[in-house]
Amino acid sequence: MLDVTACLASVQLKILHLLMSAFDYIIVGAGTAGAVIAARLTEDTNTTVLLIEAGPHFASIEDTPRDLLDSRAVSVENHDWHYITQVTPGRDFPYARGKVSGGCSAVNGVISLRGLPQDFRAWAAAGNIGWDWEDILPMYKRIENDIDFGYASYHGSSGKIPIQRFRPDQYSPVVTAFKESAMADGYAWVPDHNHPNGYDGVGPIPMNRAGDGSLRVSSSIAYLLEAQSRPNLTIKDRTMVNKVLFSGKDAIGVEVVNSDNSVESLFGGEVILSAGTINSPSILLRSGVGPIDDMDRMNIKCVNNLQGVGSNLIDHSLAVVAAYPKAGIVNETDDDVQMVIHYTAPGSAHINDMQIYCLGKLGAERFPGADPTRGLMFGTGIVINRPESRGRVTLQSSDPNQQPRIDHRLNSHAEDMRKMVDGVRRGYELLTTGALKDISEGVAVLNDDMINDTKFIEQYITDRSATIWHAVGTCKMGPASDNHAVVDQYLKVHECTSLRVVDCSIIPDHVSRNPMLTCYAIAERLVDLIRDGH
Ligand SMILES: Cc1cc2nc3c(=O)[nH]c(=O)nc-3n(C[C@H](O)[C@H](O)[C@H](O)COP(=O)(O)OP(=O)(O)OC[C@H]3O[C@@H](n4cnc5c(N)ncnc54)[C@H](O)[C@@H]3O)c2cc1C
Repeated sequence: MLDVTACLASVQLKILHLLMSAFDYIIVGAGTAGAVIAARLTEDTNTTVLLIEAGPHFASIEDTPRDLLDSRAVSVENHDWHYITQVTPGRDFPYARGKVSGGCSAVNGVISLRGLPQDFRAWAAAGNIGWDWEDILPMYKRIENDIDFGYASYHGSSGKIPIQRFRPDQYSPVVTAFKESAMADGYAWVPDHNHPNGYDGVGPIPMNRAGDGSLRVSSSIAYLLEAQSRPNLTIKDRTMVNKVLFSGKDAIGVEVVNSDNSVESLFGGEVILSAGTINSPSILLRSGVGPIDDMDRMNIKCVNNLQGVGSNLIDHSLAVVAAYPKAGIVNETDDDVQMVIHYTAPGSAHINDMQIYCLGKLGAERFPGADPTRGLMFGTGIVINRPESRGRVTLQSSDPNQQPRIDHRLNSHAEDMRKMVDGVRRGYELLTTGALKDISEGVAVLNDDMINDTKFIEQYITDRSATIWHAVGTCKMGPASDNHAVVDQYLKVHECTSLRVVDCSIIPDHVSRNPMLTCYAIAERLVDLIRDGH
């Protein structure tokens, strides 16, 4: 039967849209991707953009709080969504996400690593035309100002994101010993971990650090500060987007909750969701785009039954092996991370898929099982970069102020656990031989018997594994034939019009490295696609 009230409401919305469409684009989220897209699109003075951000936007470096500028420490308190995830079933863990313009790029660990050519070959082979390595390399080059290797043909020296590595005279004693131990263990020296060949070996981490190295240059600082005064760019901060407004399957605007709690409808030509891997699928679900069963559970009217929304959550799992240092070795002023090993897990289907970080300082009181009176420790951090495990984001409520349910299911796939066990053994080996052993008073929690006991190490990993905040994949890019795909190769939501998702959530399978630079590359690529008429 025809629902007359619903029809009238839809016609009303359509008329409002026609009368009030003030912007060509509404971008939801001024984060890593959103800030780039807003700045790039408004370089064309004929293009109008409304950029909406739930957190605050700071309009100058002077006005920006210290925690957002300090590249030496992640900021997980003051500008955060304060989400909780289940990393493994039944185990809650805080899950940081930046709630501020710049998003996670404003709070993160500034590690600036590129994905590898084979990552993008796989994206393209899965039907994502235009996302092969040859399409992405120019984006990586465009983004960066690589202070150390900018002259190389595969690097850039005039981008907005400064990247530099720690020099030997800046290494802490732990890092110097880590380098020695790693090379003694057979890892080759890799001066540039962003070389497209993706060499196995140990070397300094390329990091987003400017000036004397202490300044984190977020997407907000790099892109928005320059663009914010353009008359064709409106930034509306401290404003939460609840849902996308539709006429049929055509996105015509968004409903927002302003800082004074008033609710407002804003209309535009196209809506671009850049709210990140947790919130972009949540907004879609609240808008009626997603699995119909989820909609029914929440009493949300289904606009587009898209099974993939919120599924395919992929993250990088971390397991730490920690050691007590000899007196005077670790200092409060040491950097958390300066150096990393990349290697290929034995029997892996992916090359160069694992990392071992040198963890320069760790608080003993925060490491379960360690002697809390020992103060600072050091360690190795093992990360799996191409996991098979998949998690999910679903709604717990249709209220935008309630966090979605996040189920990471880290290491739930046997192959991931196998690689992590091997990685923990490597991390232990590094700490108990050569130069690292010389600066150590022993490993915390583990001993030689335990490390040889596979079941014990599996439990050690399950009990302690954390994510390093690299969630991707919940609005996967892929052809319509892929049941899990949410957007096509132009990042348009399948079966909808005037609606795209552009952030880490579109990454179909994780890259072999940390995701921030790839997120920048995705945003730059989207701008090219729009300029090419897609
Ligand atoms: C603590 C931490 C450390 C990390 N360290 C590193 C690292 O060293 N190297 C690395 O490569 N990666 C790192 N990452 C991951 C990386 O920073 C992110 O993967 C990437 O920046 C995500 O970009 P995005 O554009 O997808 O989302 P975000 O940058 O999170 O942007 C989303 C934006 O949307 C806004 N938003 C969300 N919902 C709404 C809504 N409903 N209404 C309005 N606005 C909304 C958010 O406030 C945010 O500003 C780290 C992440 C964290 C949290």
